[in-house]
Amino acid sequence: MTSPLDKFGILAKIVRISNSTVDVERRLQNIMELFRREMRVGRAILFNLDRESGRLIARAWDDILPPPDFSIGLEENVLGRAVLTWDAQIAASDQVGRLPENLAELVKNYARLIAVPVKDDKTLYAVLALLDNADDAYDDDRLDLLKCIAQEMAGTIRNSRLYAESKKRIAELSVLYEVGRAVSSTIEVDSVLNTVVNITSKVLLAEGCSLNVLDVSQGILRVSAEYGIIPKDCRFRHLLDAPEGAQPEMMLRCVGRETAFLGLAGDDPYCPHSDLEDKNKSIICLPLHFKGSFKGTLNVFNKLTAPPGRPREFNREDLELLTTMGAMISASLENALTFQTVDGLARHNEALVRNLSCLYEISGAMMTTVKMDELLTIITRAVTMRRGLGFDRVLILLMNEDEDQLVGAAFREYSDQDDEAPDRSLSDLLRKSIPLETPPPNLDEIAEIQLPLTDQGVLARTAVEKRAFSITAGNGNKMVEHALPGGFGRLSFATVPMLAKGKVVGVIAVDKDFTAGLTTPQDVKNLSMLANQAALAIENSRLYEYIEQANLTLSQTRERLIEAEKLAALGEMAAGMAHEIRNPLVSIGGFTRRLLKNLDNDSPQRTYVEVIINEVSRLEKTLSEVLDFSRDTLGHLDEHNLNEIISESLYVLRRDFREGGIEVQTEFDDIPMVFVDERQIKHVFFNLFHNACQAMEHGGIVLIKTYSTRVDDRAFVACDVTDTGPGIPPEVLPNVFNPFFTTKDTGTGLGLSIVHKIVSRHHGEIDVVNRPEGGATFTIKLPVAAESGLYLK
Ligand code: ADP
Repeated sequence: MTSPLDKFGILAKIVRISNSTVDVERRLQNIMELFRREMRVGRAILFNLDRESGRLIARAWDDILPPPDFSIGLEENVLGRAVLTWDAQIAASDQVGRLPENLAELVKNYARLIAVPVKDDKTLYAVLALLDNADDAYDDDRLDLLKCIAQEMAGTIRNSRLYAESKKRIAELSVLYEVGRAVSSTIEVDSVLNTVVNITSKVLLAEGCSLNVLDVSQGILRVSAEYGIIPKDCRFRHLLDAPEGAQPEMMLRCVGRETAFLGLAGDDPYCPHSDLEDKNKSIICLPLHFKGSFKGTLNVFNKLTAPPGRPREFNREDLELLTTMGAMISASLENALTFQTVDGLARHNEALVRNLSCLYEISGAMMTTVKMDELLTIITRAVTMRRGLGFDRVLILLMNEDEDQLVGAAFREYSDQDDEAPDRSLSDLLRKSIPLETPPPNLDEIAEIQLPLTDQGVLARTAVEKRAFSITAGNGNKMVEHALPGGFGRLSFATVPMLAKGKVVGVIAVDKDFTAGLTTPQDVKNLSMLANQAALAIENSRLYEYIEQANLTLSQTRERLIEAEKLAALGEMAAGMAHEIRNPLVSIGGFTRRLLKNLDNDSPQRTYVEVIINEVSRLEKTLSEVLDFSRDTLGHLDEHNLNEIISESLYVLRRDFREGGIEVQTEFDDIPMVFVDERQIKHVFFNLFHNACQAMEHGGIVLIKTYSTRVDDRAFVACDVTDTGPGIPPEVLPNVFNPFFTTKDTGTGLGLSIVHKIVSRHHGEIDVVNRPEGGATFTIKLPVAAESGLYLK
């Protein structure tokens, strides 16, 4: 008979152990020992209930060494029954049910097994298993004592769990606080990324950490930040591009998933890559989500340390911690990415506004003039000024549609002076002292550029294909332009067409050789916008020039018409008068000549009569000229060679030339026939030669040149009559074709009026200019016979 148990003594000891300050495992083991020592139990083992696996796992026993590796399923054994019934169970050792072999071996040595659930009113934490050989039965008292002790143990376990839990929570909270503080300390993306990998590595005690951000535009996961040691298989820049078989699948499997993966060595489905075969290798990949969409993965590689006796790998707690951090990291990352996008947009918008206001100012400046040279100066300045488009050089070629070619029009290089006066507006600077712009040294070279549109170079292709080119020179590119002035676009250059109403007005070429810059797509875009505005301005300027020319022609025609009307009126009046005067004059002449015949040679009246006869014949000459002038019709029209008509007129006047000491020089071209009234045209030349003789009082040279020419695209024959006389005074020049205008004492002032009238009647033109070296040149132009029909029939 064994002595009764000192229940109170045992309980007091249990309470003391439970409330001691030693580690909970040690306390549990002390209680197990107490069972053996004080309650005559053969073995006392405490099994923890592992809720995840649904098994009982040995946690402590009555020995300082750790308990054997007992792991028991709950089915069909006395321990399982204690769990399921929440009540103590006693069984003879041969009736304990199915137990793992190592435990069954142990149980065999004892008579019975008592299983007491370690629980409080809410939770069953463990099962206490006692093995003994004692003969005394387990009465209610003894069982109550055991239950009481088990309850005390449950309290110990609960408290220690609560303590561990709160310690963990506090640790987690402080880690999260630190993580949050670190990742929100900056808004700059690179800095956020680096902070995230750095702090994650440290918090999880990992060898390395990497962050892959999803690049939506390219559909790839991009390694965006790394810290520490990253296994080489996981270092691909574009993970989706990794060679086959080498993809770090873990990361890819995160795509589109909510939860993180924990990959352990040999854990096949999660860690297919060889690195994880190695013991101690582990990986956690956490998908990062924000507002429901996948943003990337955060990956930690290989645990740096492990508790004694445990493998060096990440565990479920690490996984949970990283998951909790994930939400914060995603938010910070999203903020940084949003900030980056917004910042980028703001910069883009700022650049856009700057470009547009620059173009607005340039177009404002272009509006201020319609003169082509001023316009080209404004455009070339706008392209080369730093405050404008900022190119180093610009070349403008304009389209010559008649010839189907591009012709050099303007060239400019950036000048330091451009950036003076920063307080003045760009449009002001573009317009300032435009006429004073010094022409570029190689202006002649530019003006000589004539590029047919059939040329295969970039300039011609820009016009033909109506599109911009951006060329990097010197790289063997065949399109590099040979027509550009020396040294232009050595590094790179761009060309854009100038389009107005769908038509190519010209081409602009630019380079950045001085600043060794390359032309960017944005540069070309800006230049294209400017080119189109410039094209419109150039087109307007051309239209303006055309209208101005048309106006000039119109007013000249108007003046000629008025002149013709004036002449016609004068002619009519003169003809009327001539008819009235002719008959009396014939009588006066006839009778006076008869009087002269009857006068003696020494008669004093003879001188008077002779004066009358001379004056009358002068009047008769004037009269016949007036009649010539007033005659409106053309006489006999036929095809003639102007050279022959001129030669015959010269022959008639040969004596006058000789006597006046005048040398006649002729330069006759082989010219087409003219369709004229020969007598009247002879009269024209007779008058011109006669005037030339009179102008060269002291002799000189009269040069007669004939040649073919064109007027408004029609074929004409021209004749220049040049003398070496004094020329025509400027105040006289506008009047020489007026009837009765003369500077001569004995002149009638009708010679050139008649010439003008005859030439006009033949639909020709007459012009007179003073030669710089002295003398006058009269130019007559008559339509060639083939075209005269148009006018003369
Ligand atoms: P007229 O010879 O009778 O003066 P024209 O009509 O032939 O009349 O000439 C008008 C005026 O034009 C002349 O008076 C003269 O002043 C000027 N003129 C004509 N031809 C010449 C010339 N070759 N050199 C200088 N002046 C000229």
